[in-house]
Amino acid sequence: APGGGRPGGPPRGGGRPGGGRRGPGRGGTQGAFGRGGPSGRRRKSKRAKRQEMEEMQAPSVGGVKVPHGDGSTPLRLRRGASLADFAERIETDPTNLVTILFHLGEMATITQSLDEDTFKVLGEELGYKIEIVSPEDEDRELLESFGYDLEAEELEDEDDDLLQPRPPVVTVMGHVDHGKTRTLDAIRKTNVIDRESGGITQHIGAYQVTVDHEGEERKMTFLDTPGHEAFTAMRARGAKATDVAVLVVAADDGVMPQTIEALNHAQSAGVPIVVAVNKVDKPEANPDKVMQQLTEYNLIAEEYGGDTMFVKISAKQGTGIDELLESVLLTTDAALDLQANPDREARGVAIEAKLDRGRGAVATVLVDSGTLRQGDAIVCGSSHGRVRAMFDENGNTVEEAGPSRPVQVLGLSSVPRAGDSFMVVSDDRTARQIAEKRDALERNAAAARSRKRISLEDFTKAIEEGKIDMLNLILKGDVSGAVEALEDSLLNIEVGDGDEVGLRIIHRGVGAITENDINLATVDNAIVIGFNVRPEANARDLADAEGVDVRYYSVIYDAIDDIEAALKGMLKPEYEEVHIGSAEIREVFRSSKFGNIAGSIVRDGVIKRNAKVRLTRDGVVIGDNLAVESLRRFKDDVTEVRDGYECGIGLGKFNDIREGDILEAFEMQEKPRD
Ligand code: GDP
Repeated sequence: APGGGRPGGPPRGGGRPGGGRRGPGRGGTQGAFGRGGPSGRRRKSKRAKRQEMEEMQAPSVGGVKVPHGDGSTPLRLRRGASLADFAERIETDPTNLVTILFHLGEMATITQSLDEDTFKVLGEELGYKIEIVSPEDEDRELLESFGYDLEAEELEDEDDDLLQPRPPVVTVMGHVDHGKTRTLDAIRKTNVIDRESGGITQHIGAYQVTVDHEGEERKMTFLDTPGHEAFTAMRARGAKATDVAVLVVAADDGVMPQTIEALNHAQSAGVPIVVAVNKVDKPEANPDKVMQQLTEYNLIAEEYGGDTMFVKISAKQGTGIDELLESVLLTTDAALDLQANPDREARGVAIEAKLDRGRGAVATVLVDSGTLRQGDAIVCGSSHGRVRAMFDENGNTVEEAGPSRPVQVLGLSSVPRAGDSFMVVSDDRTARQIAEKRDALERNAAAARSRKRISLEDFTKAIEEGKIDMLNLILKGDVSGAVEALEDSLLNIEVGDGDEVGLRIIHRGVGAITENDINLATVDNAIVIGFNVRPEANARDLADAEGVDVRYYSVIYDAIDDIEAALKGMLKPEYEEVHIGSAEIREVFRSSKFGNIAGSIVRDGVIKRNAKVRLTRDGVVIGDNLAVESLRRFKDDVTEVRDGYECGIGLGKFNDIREGDILEAFEMQEKPRD
């Protein structure tokens, strides 16, 4: 064997979380952004190995043909590419690449996405000069093909003569129930100027407040989608919409898992943090403990000689809010120099968007630089249009919006995603063309991603081939007891042969499967287990687009059996559920003859008579394996009802239905196995 023994000592996790393998430790989200390259030590050994290999160089390396030439055949790979992608490009068997990489001292599975350094080393080995193209690079090239030179513009944007200060954009993050929403409400209320404007306050995803800071009127923009979910989603898309983070920690509860998750997100994004120690009105509040606890995470209070500002607040009573705003401004001014050029065509990012029945696509955008005006032609992600109207958070019409200003925009062709960037372009046609090109790029990327993500079946195969040793799971359940029980049982699965295959639960929680869960799963290549819970509609779409394996169970033992089978590398062929449509219950009609009838509107897809359905209430499964026993439109029995139509659905003996419940229809299909 080249080098003898285990060359380079392939790093193995040995079942211990954080045991040297790529990937984040507990709380596990840092990996989302800074997929840290191999450590210096490992690099060195890789290089040494490479030299050894070079000495033995033959026309082919490890069974892979090397290109002719001086070893610098250029090859462009997408960021997040895997060995499978590389293999496809050079037309070789990916398992060869696994072997070669192994001899270079790195262990990777075929489908795992690898960092740039690893690709470069492997590329050099094989005579390729690898260039990693990020989606941003790709997009830049696209815009350049339309005559936009972003680099030149960025340089221009650094011209001090053109720059003016802009307000900070602030995100409020923290553990659930620690008071994020309440804090955002309290901040909004302190804004006297806002109240005087007389409009009706609406949720558009962000709002601006004006405060008096050292005798100066200062504006601040708050993203009011609380929680780091929005933040994660945007970051996952490469958008940087936040300048400063307010970390809310309840003084009666202290640092909790999501507190750590949130601060990890902020720290890895390089965003300064102000800590709001909330609920100090409670008798059991212990703000000192919070300060103490956070020192462990490098958030050291000024009182302790650090430079993080901690502010005691009661969002409920509205105390400390002024100090909090003050601290955010002080932190901003100390850490950042926020400026932008308002006198140019606007650029920015979409922070929230939805389809409004009457008004079409409605997107809240945040202007980064330039000024957005009514009538501007814009492209936002893969949607485009002309700004027909703009509104602020009070429902007032806005003629123009400068840097850091959030506005709701009407006139887009489709609903963009949170985190999509927008820009004003010269005309409608250009906007449409850019949008279409982006759409095509995105579809390619999505196709590549879904090939790459791991599923339980892939996992089984990968174990058989000895290429993987850790299964990452995200558990969501309807009640915490069930989640804990499931977690315990899963962690107790005996696989046999020592510790070869490990299982790691990277996130657990109660409630519907959210977009954040899916984002986490994409980052850590995890499988999501839903126990008696379902995904939110947008989470389901995201999972489809990203190719994340989401599995639903209502019996703990079924979940355990599947995971156990996967860990032992013997998963049986199976049936999979195929979603065919969903309907929302609008009204319940009681009939003594037929039982309760659900007056519903079909939200997507189609509802068919005799289809299997599941009933959920706030994301929690109330009834499973039900069947559509009767289906009517007006007085007629029908076989199916499509998207957008109303109908009456009878579920036979099952009568526990309420207004607002969701009926999800599905069919069982045998899952193809390769
Ligand atoms: P979020 O999940 O972080 O958005 O938390 P919420 O803002 O919804 O607050 C969770 C719960 O804590 C609610 O019942 C609030 O009324 C309560 N709460 C929030 N802030 C305070 C506070 O300053 N003092 C007290 N006593 N309760 C608070």
